[in-house]
Amino acid sequence: MSAPLAPPPTYAETPTLLVKIFGKDRPGITAGLFDTLAAFAVEVVDIEQLVTRGRITLCALVTAPTSGTATEGELRATVHSWAESMRLEAEIISGTGDNRPRGTGRSHVTVLGHPLTAESTAAIAASITSTGGNIDRIFRLAKYPVLAVEFDVSGTETPALRTSLALQAAEHGVDVAVVASGLQRRAQRLVVMDVDSTLIQDEVIELFAAHAGCEEEVAEVTARAMRGELDFAQSLHARVELLAGLDASVVDKVRKEVRLTPGARTLVRTLKRLGFQVGVVSGGFTQVTDALQDELGLDFASANALEIENGKLTGRVTGEIVDRAGKARLLRRFAQEAGVPLAQTVAIGDGANDLDMLNTAGLGVAFNAKPVVREAAHTAVNVPFLDTVLYLLGITREEVEAADVEEPAVEG
Ligand SMILES: [Mg+2]
Repeated sequence: MSAPLAPPPTYAETPTLLVKIFGKDRPGITAGLFDTLAAFAVEVVDIEQLVTRGRITLCALVTAPTSGTATEGELRATVHSWAESMRLEAEIISGTGDNRPRGTGRSHVTVLGHPLTAESTAAIAASITSTGGNIDRIFRLAKYPVLAVEFDVSGTETPALRTSLALQAAEHGVDVAVVASGLQRRAQRLVVMDVDSTLIQDEVIELFAAHAGCEEEVAEVTARAMRGELDFAQSLHARVELLAGLDASVVDKVRKEVRLTPGARTLVRTLKRLGFQVGVVSGGFTQVTDALQDELGLDFASANALEIENGKLTGRVTGEIVDRAGKARLLRRFAQEAGVPLAQTVAIGDGANDLDMLNTAGLGVAFNAKPVVREAAHTAVNVPFLDTVLYLLGITREEVEAADVEEPAVEG
């Protein structure tokens, strides 16, 4: 039997050197630096490297040479002369121990800018600081279709950060989504979306109304529901009644008229590749959601069903009504069927009748929603691209595109 492994060194009291290299990136820099350091038999405590527009920043935190071997002065001179030969800048800072541990209360702050200005970046950073937060790391998640940047923040509680940043976001016209850090973010497994004005750009009842020539009447009922004069079920019945007598062939026409929201295919395709289950719930109609389920390969779909008799719409719906409470109920049902705890679900919607569902999910995303929905949801996205939701889950555009190269998407 081999000897048990010694506990890892903590480096708490160990003299350490922070070696920072900056300059034009090319192959061999990292190997060259560590080859140079190897002559001094130092140990690596931490490494960070990034490349921005062809310039490399490489930071290595290493133990200082111990007495009996070479001196720190020799190490400094050797690293500087290697850097000079490579036409790189080098800086070496002496100190003790490892990085300070990150504070408790950790969050991911995703900023979506279209564009992202220096002014709004300054406001966001200042807002993080004002809540007592420290920015530990910043990196770009995507440059397309919007610029998405993630700030990893510690030292402040997620809800306080969310409240403070929501004000800045509104003022500066950027989207800022704050989610708590931790395994939960990587454990999300089920995404449930609203359909009308979320997965698709249209309101399906309005497409039917156009064929029935009753757009104005339908709009009037919608307006009454918005004024709170009718609840969702009443307004649904009143609007569907206006479609009575419409030929069932209109269903096919409406299916063809439905326009997916930009990024919808990318979102669903990427989530499916990551092993997520994806579903939709709609206050609209199964006649449309069933087709979307087939087309996108969705795991779950539920909506109201238009009753059709003798080739005509009867003006009634059949079955259980999908309303505000119904959407939340369906999210729970899908989660149960998928074997996913509610904390590991994500819901996306734009309307007031999505609110219960958004608040039931582990992460509720208000998508181009009205202020009342935006304010009540965990996070909001106000750019018209559904795939930006991926960035809230910490998935980068590069990862999405790399997956598309490996297994080309079939766009229909
Ligand atoms: Mg909607």
